[in-house]
Amino acid sequence: MDLSVQLGNQRYQEWYLGLNNLPGNFDLIIVGAGISGCVFAEQASKRLNLKSLLIDKREHIGGNCYDFINKHGIRISQYGVHLFHTKFTRVWKYINNFSEWIPYEHRVKGNILVGQSYRIVPIPPSQKTINILFGANVSDEKEMEQWLCSRRVPIENPRNGEESALARSGEELYDAVFKHYTKKQWDKWPKELDASVLARIPVRTNTDDRYFTDPFQALPKHGYTKIFENMILNDPNITIRLCADFFRIRDELPNSKLLVFTGPIDSYYSSLGLPKLEYRSLKFEEEYHEPEGGFYQSCLQLNYPGKEVDFTRIVEYKHKPNQPKDSKLQKSTVIFKEYSCDEGEPYYPVPNPKNRELYEKYKEMAAREDRVCFVGRLASYKYFNMDQAFLNALEIFDEYFSDSSSFRTTLIGEGDGPK
Ligand code: UDP
Repeated sequence: MDLSVQLGNQRYQEWYLGLNNLPGNFDLIIVGAGISGCVFAEQASKRLNLKSLLIDKREHIGGNCYDFINKHGIRISQYGVHLFHTKFTRVWKYINNFSEWIPYEHRVKGNILVGQSYRIVPIPPSQKTINILFGANVSDEKEMEQWLCSRRVPIENPRNGEESALARSGEELYDAVFKHYTKKQWDKWPKELDASVLARIPVRTNTDDRYFTDPFQALPKHGYTKIFENMILNDPNITIRLCADFFRIRDELPNSKLLVFTGPIDSYYSSLGLPKLEYRSLKFEEEYHEPEGGFYQSCLQLNYPGKEVDFTRIVEYKHKPNQPKDSKLQKSTVIFKEYSCDEGEPYYPVPNPKNRELYEKYKEMAAREDRVCFVGRLASYKYFNMDQAFLNALEIFDEYFSDSSSFRTTLIGEGDGPK
C-alpha cells in the first residue's frame, strides 16, 4: 500500500513527542486509539471531566478503521474495507455526534467459477445466486424454500461452522460459497470454527441482495478517521501520543487512576509465557489501473469464494459514495486484493473452543487486576463489528464508572448474532 501521501487527516507534532512534556498525573491512561480507546477518552472527558493520556503504537489514530486519501485522490482504508451498520439506536445516536453520514447499503457480489467461466452472484446467497450458479430457475420465496429444503442437511443445533452452513444451505451452496472462502480466510475448515462465524452470512429465500439488514447503514461523509478526530481532538482533557508502544514505555508512564487496555489480552501477559491466542491478519496487494470507464470491477467488494485464487476478495474503494468530489470522474482507480495470513497486525480473533478456553484463563487473570479495564475486540477476544465495539465500550464505560469495581465482564447487548 502506498502510504507516501496520507491526505485528509489531522496530524500534530506533539503526538510524536513520546513521553516528553507530559504532566505527571492523569486520571486514565488508555492504550490504543481505536474505537474503544477513543470512546473511553471522549466519555471520560465529556461526562466526568476526567483527563486521559491516549497512546497508540501506530502513527495514526482510528485503529483499524483508519482511512485516508491516497495520491490518486481516492479515500482508502488502510486495514481493509469497513462498512458501518447497526440496529442499536444508542450507537447510531452516538456516532452522529461526530460525523455527517451518507445512507449506504452495502451489496457484495461473489465471482464464482462455473465450469471454465466466472459468474457474478449476490452474497449472501439468495434466489438469483442459485439460479445463476445451478440453473435452479426459482422465482419466488416458496420455490426457494423448496429448493433449500430438499438440500439442507438436517442438523438441529449446529456445533460448528460447517454444520451451521450445511443446515442452512446444503452441500452445493456450502461448497460454492462458504467452504473454501472460510479456509482461505481463517486457514481453518469451517468445522474447526464456531457456528457463529458462518452464521454471520444468512442464506435468504427472498431477493434482498443487501449484505446487512440493520436499520441504520451509512458511511461517514468525510471518512472514518474524521470521526475519531471529532471525538478526541481539541479537547484539553485528552492528550495523545502516537508511535508509543505501551510495552516499551510502561515503566515510564505518568501516574494514573485507571489503565484502559485495548490491545490483545495475551500480549498484556506475554511475560508469563502462557500459550498465545490465535489472531488472523490480513495482507493487501494494491494495483493501480486505468480501465475504460474508470472502474476495474462492477462493485465495491467482489468476493472470490473459490480455491482457484488465494485471495478472498477484491475491494475497489472508488465505488464508495463518500469519496472526495471528482474522484469518480477520473480514469484511474486502485484495487486491493485481500489475503488472509497468520503473521502481522491482529485483525480477527479466531472463534473456536480451544481459543475460547485459553481466553477464559486470560480473562480470569484480568479480573484480578487492580484498576485495569480490558476493552474491545482484541482485549475481550470477540469478533465485534464496528457498532458492537462502540456499544461494548460505551457499556463498559457506564458499568465501570457506575461503581468502583476495577474489571467488568464484556457486555455486548444483542449485537453478537448473525447479521
Ligand atoms: N463467508 C463465506 N463466503 C463469503 C463471505 C463470507 O464463507 O463469500 C464466511 C467466512 O467464513 C467469513 C464469514 O462468513 O469469515 C464472515 O464474513 P464477513 O464478511 O462478515 O467477514 P468480515 O467482513 O468480518 O471479514
